[in-house]
Amino acid sequence: MTEQTKRIFGIDLGTTYSSIAYVDEYGKAVIIPNAENERVTPSVVFFDDDSIVIGDVAKESSKLYPNEVVSFVKRSMGEPNFIFLHNSEEYRAEEISAYVLKKLAQDAEQYLGETVTDVVITCPAYFGINEREATRKAGEIAGFNVRHIINEPTAAAIAYGSLDSNDERIVLVYDLGGGTFDITMIDIRKNSVEVICTGGDHNLGGKDWDDRLVAHMVELFQNETGTDEDILDDPDTWQDLQLSAEKAKKILSQRPKTPISVTHGGERVKMVIGREKFEEITEDLLERTIEFTKEMLEEAKNKGYQSFDEIILVGGATRMPQIKTQIEENFSITPKVFDPDEAVAKGAAIYGWKLGLNDGLIERVSQKTNKPIERIDDISVMIESNELSAQDFKKAAQEVADQTGYTLPSIERSMLKVKNVTSKSFGVVAHTPQDDEIVFNIVLRNTTVPITLKKDFYTAVMDQKTVLIRIMESETSRVEVPLDHAVEIKTAVLNLPPNLPADLPIEITFTLNEEGRLHLTAMETTESRQVEVMVDTASVIQGEDLEKAIARSQNLVVH
Ligand code: AMP
Repeated sequence: MTEQTKRIFGIDLGTTYSSIAYVDEYGKAVIIPNAENERVTPSVVFFDDDSIVIGDVAKESSKLYPNEVVSFVKRSMGEPNFIFLHNSEEYRAEEISAYVLKKLAQDAEQYLGETVTDVVITCPAYFGINEREATRKAGEIAGFNVRHIINEPTAAAIAYGSLDSNDERIVLVYDLGGGTFDITMIDIRKNSVEVICTGGDHNLGGKDWDDRLVAHMVELFQNETGTDEDILDDPDTWQDLQLSAEKAKKILSQRPKTPISVTHGGERVKMVIGREKFEEITEDLLERTIEFTKEMLEEAKNKGYQSFDEIILVGGATRMPQIKTQIEENFSITPKVFDPDEAVAKGAAIYGWKLGLNDGLIERVSQKTNKPIERIDDISVMIESNELSAQDFKKAAQEVADQTGYTLPSIERSMLKVKNVTSKSFGVVAHTPQDDEIVFNIVLRNTTVPITLKKDFYTAVMDQKTVLIRIMESETSRVEVPLDHAVEIKTAVLNLPPNLPADLPIEITFTLNEEGRLHLTAMETTESRQVEVMVDTASVIQGEDLEKAIARSQNLVVH
């Protein structure tokens, strides 16, 4: 395979399960099974002395070695307070996620006999700036060239849209995974996938349904044995119940009832749990997803989208039949179940494949127009502005088709545009005239990205050396919010040139790229001098910690 057509793999890095996909020689997205011949790999890591075990074996080992097994790290991505300790070494969520990525890649390499270098990784639409950066870092620690971080619902929509690319429609993607819930409105067109609005909760997922079952099982055990002991304090029992609850939940998606047994302290209690009871004890969780959906629909109305054509269900937890029923009741539409476990990885693979073909196309267009590759951003704009003739475009596409063996229409369709929105608002701490601190939002959530905005800050005193900017993220859509409604995600320090007067405007440019990552530049306006900006991203692994993680990962074979 040549450099221009280097394969780009799609990875769904899930809270509970992960998977990897590629696009085969017929242009079809295919999941690559792992070494255990499973299509999804549990995102569970077992630190077994000096070796690291990922997946099913790790999940099973959690019963015997609860303290050596770590799972659900995705919920802690970009979270500096999350540290997993093993043999006095500290591991952050980014590094543990990197091990999951390594396992997926290693198994794929063995299956295909080809090295995995370039990847597109997915994350929930709901992820903020730090979580996205952390996801990218996880890929880098695993040794990948991360071509793009793409939202899970967008990936699912790409996989869905690729089934029939001529049909234009507005789709709601209801994505309930292991740990996160995303609801996203997407406008699917022939050559574009545009996110209109997104909402959800990154602490609501299939795991919460498991937890409710666990609590119910504990209650039944207590009633039966007469004990008031909290049996979950015992880590072995806790792990055991977690695993049985997930199994029971899955059975209840198929059957009206399931037998379960709880063993603790030498006592064993058998019980039967029915679907009705399960639905009753989890009703409020489902209701929350409906509320989030309604909120998002209201926001979409403000953007001029009054209705939608379809709801598609993705994410393993949408297999629970009550989800379909509730959606039908609330929105009078029958949702389509679309490849719940695989759509996200496949969509990421299709996006990666298109990126790869587009790279080839850009290279040919560069040769034909003598325009440097770095300056070619959008081929369709070049055609519209007559910078590239239709004939030369056809020739370039034909050459890529000949070289890759893919059809001409699929090469032409590789110029897929993905437009995204920010899922959070972000702004800075400012002072009111009464000198109270408030958050002044610069970019409101559900704004289309990439976006560049400028804001002036003022020096307070003469010859001020630095200006501190506190960057805040929040989930409101208001411009001004109290400090405690937002979280500080970064600080930036501007190092000013000497002898500036007081009250001098410093213009700060905030750019959110299409992945939702933030970049800052600053300018001292009187003499248009660039001001150095030091952004502190302490919440995401960086510096020495990052180097150490990369070095550790390089020498590591995962099992
Ligand atoms: P995902 O992150 O999309 O892989 O979704 C994983 C979640 O889906 C986990 O909480 C699984 O327990 C849940 N799940 C998978 N299959 C089923 C099923 N048949 N019924 C209910 N939940 C399921």
